Amino acid sequence: MDRPGIIRKSAAELRVPPNLADYAATRAAFSWQAVRAELAGLPGGGLNIAFEAVERHARGPLRDKTAFRFLGAQAKRDIGYGELSRLTNRFANVLKSLGIGKGERLFLLSGRVPELYVTVLGSFKNGTVVSPLFSAFGPEPIATRIKLGEGSVLVTTELLYERKVEKIRAELPTLRHVLLVGEDGQATNIPGTLDFGTLMAQASDVFDIVPTDSEDLSLLHFTSGTTGTPKGAMHVHGAVATHYATGRYALDLHAEDIFWCTADPGWVTGTSYGIIAPLLHGVTSIVDEAEFDAERWYRILDEEKVSVWYTAPTAIRMLMKAGAEIARKRSYPNLRFVASVGEPLNPEAVWWGKEVLGLPIHDNWWQTETGGIMIANTPAFDIKPGSMGRPLPGIEAAIVKKDAEGKVSPVDTADTEGELALKAGWPSMLRGYLHNEERYKKCFAGDWYLTGDLARRDADGWFWFVGRTDDVIKSAGHLIGPFEVESALMEHPAVAEAGVIGKPDAVVGEVVKAFVSLKQGFEAGEALRLELLGHARKRLGAAVAPKEIAFLPSLPRTRSGKIMRRLLKARELGLPEGDTSTLEAG
Ligand code: ATP
Ligand code: MG
Repeated sequence: MDRPGIIRKSAAELRVPPNLADYAATRAAFSWQAVRAELAGLPGGGLNIAFEAVERHARGPLRDKTAFRFLGAQAKRDIGYGELSRLTNRFANVLKSLGIGKGERLFLLSGRVPELYVTVLGSFKNGTVVSPLFSAFGPEPIATRIKLGEGSVLVTTELLYERKVEKIRAELPTLRHVLLVGEDGQATNIPGTLDFGTLMAQASDVFDIVPTDSEDLSLLHFTSGTTGTPKGAMHVHGAVATHYATGRYALDLHAEDIFWCTADPGWVTGTSYGIIAPLLHGVTSIVDEAEFDAERWYRILDEEKVSVWYTAPTAIRMLMKAGAEIARKRSYPNLRFVASVGEPLNPEAVWWGKEVLGLPIHDNWWQTETGGIMIANTPAFDIKPGSMGRPLPGIEAAIVKKDAEGKVSPVDTADTEGELALKAGWPSMLRGYLHNEERYKKCFAGDWYLTGDLARRDADGWFWFVGRTDDVIKSAGHLIGPFEVESALMEHPAVAEAGVIGKPDAVVGEVVKAFVSLKQGFEAGEALRLELLGHARKRLGAAVAPKEIAFLPSLPRTRSGKIMRRLLKARELGLPEGDTSTLEAG
């Protein structure tokens, strides 16, 4: 379907005054010092994420306001700011009583239950560094990460322990304590472990936060493993300034919002925006303990009166695949802003939002390494579907090129493709990759942090994702970004998702090959294959369009929902699959 290249916004569409109204003026007036001054800071000096996120509110008028609403399989549970303060104090006391000190590492392996949230925030209070893992990880990836991170404590559930951890426990000598959350609140009694609930019940709910400063480590987050072995990105308490500023500008959080971030805390989005940012703004967050289900998700949006929704392209594609009829069974009068992160958001998906939910989807861009949103589409500004928006206040982004001597410098001409780089120094920038100093050093060139993504900036200052430097296809002298090809394929009514790779070719270097999965009601076959080839050629031209298309029931993706093109390629070429620790079970 042909659609205009821009979605115009008007002031009349805004239901609340936008936090970012004058882009140029806000950027010009912005300073990280001013953001820092808006934070409370620890009473005795220093900075701690949990104080900003929880204590500040628990001591003020938000004491009784719901911080989290957990939607369990059977029941709902609301936890207010005051209660969250007491619970996290208890957990900090538990750590202290176990002799876990500042800077030690705690690993978390659990579904999205209240104990997970209490553990993260309670650990911050104790100065303990948190490393959340996906609960769906198998024993291998769990062991690798705990070993690499020299974890002292693991918090998990009885079930996950029995299934995954018991057999690897002997390989983890640094692990001094394992705390288990029992099923249905029952106490656990497994040798070599402690019962979370019992320890919590015995602990005091008064705790003095261990003094941390802005450079003390808070989180160790492993990257998604889309392009290779996951890297452990180290973050500090000072990152909270980015969480605060981006919660304001990128997610447009207002005190009265009901916010739902669908990401699991095993992925950085689920901690920065599933836990920290909404608390900083004193809003109520919805946490769905269940896995994706289209009907359930629409029900949550409707019944929980979600006003700001932060999700990911993979989820949107699944909703699109399920069909618009399910969405239309309900209405979403409270929803006012929808944002997405994690992968390029195909224009088709942006429009789908507008047509089905009544709101376009706002793409934003960041990485585990950046700790928070860097480039974003925000409520007050026009959307160019397919673009990830503009750098937020406090963020300087550029397209950079390396010259013959290896010197990196920004390219000023619009619409030039090159590596996306950020001026180093924003508060949530990673402080290192755990035990991989060399890889970390490679991220920087002079003042610039190099993202490993290719992009271009248009004449109006909007950034467009082209592909990961590793995924870009070189065919007959052209550089082809997979995203462009995938987006064109997604415009076809039969296509639910597409992944594009370069396949080595003696003549042209690489030929473009696409893998697609189909929407319900469409049949894979030769006729459709030819039709898709023709459709792509018409949209993209013969030089860029795929030469080959294969059908798959679904594409391989990471647990954070990203299409793993490197795996499509390895499988196509019969090469080793490499690190598949984050591959979602198909
Ligand atoms: P690894 O570094 O282990 O290969 P990863 O890069 O997928 O994994 P994350 O930090 O979770 O791990 O993802 C960040 C990357 O996701 C970005 O560098 C970019 O390639 C992609 N990404 C995130 N948001 C967007 C977006 N809005 N548009 C395009 N790409 C995005
Ligand atoms: Mg990465």
